[in-house]
Amino acid sequence: MSSITIDSNLHTGSLHQLMLTEIQSCKSAVLHWSCSAGHLVVHFLPILANGKPVSPWKLDEHSHTHFYQTPCCLCPFLDGSATYKRSKIGWVQFLAQTQTGDIYSDGKYVAACAEQRCGYFGMII
Ligand SMILES: [Zn+2]
Repeated sequence: MSSITIDSNLHTGSLHQLMLTEIQSCKSAVLHWSCSAGHLVVHFLPILANGKPVSPWKLDEHSHTHFYQTPCCLCPFLDGSATYKRSKIGWVQFLAQTQTGDIYSDGKYVAACAEQRCGYFGMII
């Protein structure tokens, strides 16, 4: 399980930036804010009865029909609140370039702050 150690001497703004960097640079898991732990933790995708994780495009729907919460954004940290804040799951499309210069379209599922307030933006792995 991944988490970051919080230096109590860091200013809230610095810690916020540090966590955003950690979230966006993490390539092996989705990190999110844990209100109960008070730091970033790995967000685990729900597992279906067949042993496979729920597909990213079904996470939002799954959260309405099962006991599952999408990743928590950083708004509770900024507000000093212990109340979970639901992130929004969406598809981000971008253009990329091959080594030979060809341009192609690609995309990723992401979890982002539903209020576009705290900057939370994590790739769904
Ligand atoms: Zn937020």
